[in-house]
Amino acid sequence: MLTRRELLKRATRAGIAAALMPAACTVPTPEPAGVWVNDVHSQLNRTRVLGIDRPANVEALQAVVSKARNEERSISVMGGRHAMGGQQFGSDTFLIDMNGMQGIHEFDAQKGEVEIGAGMQWPELIADLLELQRGRERPWGIVQKQTGADRLSIGGALAANVHSRGLSYQPIVQDVEAFTLIDARGEILRCSRQENTELFQLTIGGYGLFGVIATVRLRLAPRQKIERVVEVTDVSGIASRFEERIEQGFLFGDFQYSTDVQSESLLRQGVFSCYRPVDPDTPVPESQHALSRDNWLSLLELGHVNRAEAFNQYSTYYLGTNGQVYWSDTHQLSTYIDDYHFELGRRIGALSEGTEMITEIDVPRNALAPFLEEVRADFIENDVNLIYGTIRMIERDDETFLAWAREPWACIIFNLHTAHDAESLDRTAEHFRRLIERGRAYGGTYYLTYHRWATRDQLLACYPRFPEFLQLKLQHDPQELFQSDWYRHYRALFSG
Ligand SMILES: Cc1cc2nc3c(=O)[nH]c(=O)nc-3n(C[C@H](O)[C@H](O)[C@H](O)COP(=O)(O)OP(=O)(O)OC[C@H]3O[C@@H](n4cnc5c(N)ncnc54)[C@H](O)[C@@H]3O)c2cc1C
Repeated sequence: MLTRRELLKRATRAGIAAALMPAACTVPTPEPAGVWVNDVHSQLNRTRVLGIDRPANVEALQAVVSKARNEERSISVMGGRHAMGGQQFGSDTFLIDMNGMQGIHEFDAQKGEVEIGAGMQWPELIADLLELQRGRERPWGIVQKQTGADRLSIGGALAANVHSRGLSYQPIVQDVEAFTLIDARGEILRCSRQENTELFQLTIGGYGLFGVIATVRLRLAPRQKIERVVEVTDVSGIASRFEERIEQGFLFGDFQYSTDVQSESLLRQGVFSCYRPVDPDTPVPESQHALSRDNWLSLLELGHVNRAEAFNQYSTYYLGTNGQVYWSDTHQLSTYIDDYHFELGRRIGALSEGTEMITEIDVPRNALAPFLEEVRADFIENDVNLIYGTIRMIERDDETFLAWAREPWACIIFNLHTAHDAESLDRTAEHFRRLIERGRAYGGTYYLTYHRWATRDQLLACYPRFPEFLQLKLQHDPQELFQSDWYRHYRALFSG
């Protein structure tokens, strides 16, 4: 079993030390008042906030909220800074940095529930749970987390209602027993399916607009051993292959498709890896195939300059891990290298300028194959700079107000490289709008967390309750204490 130290070391090795001291993300400006902040992945949300406060407990948090309210200032709230549409920052707002709200407050070993500070991030939560249960015969672990990055806060996970590579899970709302919210009056409210239900439904997936989540009570799952089963396969029929795997009892899985725009394999071939439970006595060897930080950087480099080789090396590596055994919680951790574009810059110079922007399109599962074929033709025609992407499954969320998982969708994630000049950004935004249009033609939707480039029409088609969401925001927060540039964008879109 990995120790807490080893787990955190792994996360830190992945270049994520910054998250242990997240204020390092902020660069003081020459101006006397204000601090510049930005998101981690796209670095396209550089925003000046009036100041940053990092409360360490619920009382301190409540005091910050009350002070801002009394001074008639607005507040924005950040966790791990991975949202990419300006949801965590508001120009000239007062920024609450939730990284001070850490730790396990209570653990119920009978029910498998844990109450934690909402600023806690996944590596600490997984590590602390392990530590707490050392020697316990049947320990609990997290049910699910996002893939591709780890330094994401639990509060941020609730605010976006995130999903994992679980094959038959709903978004994270399914794992939330309750949370504590500091609302727009500065009061502490307990929100659950029984108490303050409307706020429970609005806050999960509500992007910080209804208050600050102070603590979260998460449902856990028994930790179990799982075996990875890998094949490199054609995308045709992949939706039914996922269904088969689910029927066979597999718990997690995804399909990582080829991004080589020059090749027949583009969006047609991919690495299909799924995970099934195995006998608890199966050993989890210490030395299994794994990619080092340098291997990841090389793959990222190839992803930018030679996608055929990137797919070749990645699929060879993955096939080599077929049959490896992991734990259901720690296998969800990944390697994310903060500022990897900086490192790429040293390796490949100008080609690395810019960063990746992500979009996720969700379509009915039976529309997956035709949707991908259309996207393939579109990407070839428009010479789209696709770096990597995956396909996953989601079950329907029938609880949250602004639910994105309105159906049991197939979720297709696209990471596009974009330079940061105005023309390139326009082009990337255009690519995203065409993708949304194609998904929408099948009755699908897109995920709000990654950008705010959809048109008003697209937003309304995919989130018909959005205008009502904005009205409810004003009901619960008439002074508009909680604001972000993301919120202001949509408020303007629907004003008048
Ligand atoms: C590389 C990468 C991989 C990703 N993979 C996935 C994935 O697999 N699945 C998925 O669903 N998403 C994924 N995401 C998106 C990510 O999970 C969401 O953007 C998530 O909200 C980020 O959490 P964070 O802690 O970084 O929050 P931030 O980016 O800091 O904030 C995001 C939102 O949460 C709000 N917020 C944060 N903390 C609180 C709080 N305590 N109370 C109230 N509001 C709060 C903020 O105000 C903001 O609206 C990925 C993003 C990146 C960049």
